[in-house]
Amino acid sequence: MCLKNFKIKKWNSIKELLNAAVQVLEKANIDDAKQNVNQMASKALNISYTQLPLHWQKTVSDSFLNDFDSMINRRLAHEPLQYILGEWCFLDFEVYVDKGVLIPRPETEDVFLAAEKAIKANFIRLDFHFADIGTGTGVLGLAMAKYFPESIGYLVDVSDKALEIAKSNLQKYSELKSRLNLIKSDLLEAFKSDSLDVIISNPPYIDSEEVKSLMPEVVDYEPHLALDGGRNGLELIDKLLKQAEIVLRNKGLLIFEHGHGQRNEIKKLLSSCWEILKEGNDFAKKERFFILKLLKDN
Ligand code: GLN
Repeated sequence: MCLKNFKIKKWNSIKELLNAAVQVLEKANIDDAKQNVNQMASKALNISYTQLPLHWQKTVSDSFLNDFDSMINRRLAHEPLQYILGEWCFLDFEVYVDKGVLIPRPETEDVFLAAEKAIKANFIRLDFHFADIGTGTGVLGLAMAKYFPESIGYLVDVSDKALEIAKSNLQKYSELKSRLNLIKSDLLEAFKSDSLDVIISNPPYIDSEEVKSLMPEVVDYEPHLALDGGRNGLELIDKLLKQAEIVLRNKGLLIFEHGHGQRNEIKKLLSSCWEILKEGNDFAKKERFFILKLLKDN
């Protein structure tokens, strides 16, 4: 049986087809084959994941078979599940994702939740101005706007494609739109001095040399612009720190994600103006983020 093309066999039920698909993905060493198959099948059937068992005994229609077959083949070519589905969750958001933007990661959710706490503990006024630098899908900026309903935000990216996708996500969450602005800028270049209270960012932080050794799902599909942090992965973080010193108001906060093993190197980049509020780890106990406070008189 040709395992790569389901269209040549007659299937008795959806369940039978899905079982075969799981085997195909497992054979190709795709992780979480069963979950991948169920999610793609739900998408192709246009139903929610939890409704899938209700369809198991149904017959396989030609249009479902075509859509599902093409999804399975994309996954076999190591395209990330998230791009195949076209959407992915971040906290309580479900955002559009597409090639050209980084897929939101659970580690970044933790960065946001720690940022939320720190902002609440450090700000007297909640009508502050913030920027999400390297916004990609827009997830961090959307979360900021939602959790701080008096804030005004800027979703910033240097990539036109990212801004296009962030814009669709703003349309989707239109209740947040009036407080959010999309800006094309290389990090903080477009901002004046003393113009922001909070900067949050998941900047590119992978060492240029390491990018090519990442798993095919990442290196072959996700935008290198969103991953590659230059030498040691720290070039953009260094630039962000320098720009943030100028753009943030006194006592402003800078929250940013970074890679495991970069913490000590980042500390060496900090001028005396920065007070470290938190050196954060992620759920896998890996070094993952900093929360810094700017003290301009230091
Ligand atoms: N801010 C987006 C995210 O956290 C994109 C980050 C990036 O493109 N480096 O998922």
